[in-house]
Formats: sequence, structure tokens, C-alpha cells
Amino acid sequence: MKKLSRRSFGKLVTGVGLSLVVGGTELRLLRSAAAAVVTPSIDGTAAWGAAAAREPINVLSRKPIGIVVHHTTNLNTNDFSRSTAHIRARQIQQSHFNRGWIDTGQQFTISRGGWIMEGRHQSLSALSGGTTHVQGAHVDGHNDTHIGIECEGIYTALAPSLPQWNKLVALIAYICQQYGLSADTIVGHRDLGSTSCPGDTFYALLPQLRSAVATTLNGGSVGRMWPTVRRGTSATGLATLIQYLLRARGATITADGAFGPGTEAAVKSFQSANGLVADGVIGAATWEKLIMTVRAGDSGEAVKALQSQLTTQGYSLTVDGRFGSGTTTRVQSFQTNRQLTADGVVGINSWNHLTM
Ligand SMILES: [Zn+2]
Repeated sequence: MKKLSRRSFGKLVTGVGLSLVVGGTELRLLRSAAAAVVTPSIDGTAAWGAAAAREPINVLSRKPIGIVVHHTTNLNTNDFSRSTAHIRARQIQQSHFNRGWIDTGQQFTISRGGWIMEGRHQSLSALSGGTTHVQGAHVDGHNDTHIGIECEGIYTALAPSLPQWNKLVALIAYICQQYGLSADTIVGHRDLGSTSCPGDTFYALLPQLRSAVATTLNGGSVGRMWPTVRRGTSATGLATLIQYLLRARGATITADGAFGPGTEAAVKSFQSANGLVADGVIGAATWEKLIMTVRAGDSGEAVKALQSQLTTQGYSLTVDGRFGSGTTTRVQSFQTNRQLTADGVVGINSWNHLTM
């Protein structure tokens, strides 16, 4: 880049960014020519065994202007393997053929286990090039302008899995970088049409998704992700988990899965006692104070919290508050699926994954 003398600029501001006024036009140069976003690993259509598209793909000679987040509404499988992700991708393509579409509707798919896959053929090469857009079939009226990402699972009452969330942030940051989009262009399907997609719980996380993507684009690192839970939540599993943990901390509430005024008051009381902002909302800071490490031989309300959430996640067992061999087996199975150390001890990483 040609070096310009300081006198060339009408205004020079340092700090978060540079503002330059050149010929009356202000140019804003954001923080350094930030380190490029890491290119995520994406399994192309050949890798997952896609059938050929039934008609030629329409590749538009322009960039997309936004990104649409969807959920597939498939059951939340606990099989996080790559092979199962590929099976799901083939099932989705077939179901879209059955609707009369020429190929998979969305451009990209992310499995529960966090495997990113190309959806419609040529989407990956278009993204790599950064100048064209593959016309999809995922959002009425916006298929010529928006990239669609289908997240495997149903997120009305449960958040996406943590591996899935992390890959979603990585993929969208890469898409934004390739097409020069800002994180503000991320929308939920329901923002563009009459649908509940991507589910209430997922939709409520979109502000955090935009924030995490913006941080990634600016070269920052994203902190541990926790779902935000507040009074009136439809995430009854998470509400029950929180209630048991509050009971373990001495609250005298019932763990009924309904996050009402009594639970909110107990949260505020816990927050006050722990030097947190007493707003009654469970965010990252509150989660990290509320959880407690449990292991084989422990008993009580924190173990019930674990057992009820394992059940919500599909590792069904009796909520009896006794951490015996059955609980250990399920914890280890869960840890293995999440690529955590399968030691049966439930510390902050396991709790973090259990909430998502
Ligand atoms: Zn959708």
C-alpha cells in the first residue's frame, strides 16, 4: 500500500479505527487489516454422497446480502458422528426432491455434532470465490439474495448443541468475510416469512450470534457460550435444571420447569449473594457461579439437576439425586459424544455442554 503523508488526510483518528476524510468523503478503516477468519472445514456434496441436481444450478453473478438461520425440525439426535451427519444431508436432499425442488434447498447444513456440509451443489465454490450466489430454495421471496443455513434439530425449547453453535459462528463469520457482509445481516427465517423457524429458543440467541460473529470478524476470541434464560422461558428443561441448582444453593422453590416469579426471586437472591447484577436473568456470569462440580458418590439437588438435564438431552435416567453407576455411564456417554474427557466428573465444561 502506498504510503501517504499525514498531510494527505483532513482528519486522522486513531483508536478503535481510523477515520479518514479524503475529498470530503469519510473512509472508515476498521481495526487493522484484521487477521483473516479461519476457513472452516466443510464437507462438499461429493463427500456426503449427494445425488446429482435434477436441473442446472442457477449461479447468480452477485453477492448475497444476508444470511438466514433455520432449524430442520428433526429430532435432536445424540449421535454426533460425521457419518450420521452425512445420512441426514442425504435425507434432506431427498425430502427436497420430494417437494419438487431441483436440489437441496439451503446452501449449507450444520449437524448436531457440528459437521458443516454443503447443501445445494456449487454453494461451496461460490463461497470460496466470494463473488457469486447460488440461488436456493429456503426462504420465499429472498432466495436470490440470501444464503440459508439449516441447523439440524428442533430449537423451540432447547438451544442448539454447543458444537453446532460454535461451527455456526465460524461458518457465518467466514461467509461475512467472503462477501463483505456485516453480522447485522444475520436473520432468522421468521424475520422474512410466516414461520416459527428457527424455534423460540434459537431465535432468542440470534443477538448473541451476531455479537459472536462480529467479535470473530474483528479478530477477537468468543467467550464460553451459555444460553440466556429468563422468567417465562419456554425452555422447560433448562428451567428445571436452574431450579434444581437453586435448590442446591439453598432456595426453597419447586423444580417444576415453570420459570415464574418465585424462581425469578430466587435467582435475584442468588445473584445478590454472589456479587452479580440482580436482574433475575441467567446469563454467563450467573451460570458459572450457579453450577457445581458433581461426581460419583455425590447426592442431592445438584445431582438431580444433572440427571434431569441428561434426560432432557436424551440420556434418560431416574431423577433420584443419587450419583450412581447409571448416572456415571450416561455422563461418560455424553462426554464422549461431545468430545470431552470421559471421566464421569461433571465440571464447568460438561455443564456448559449440557446447557446446549
Ligand atoms: Zn426455516
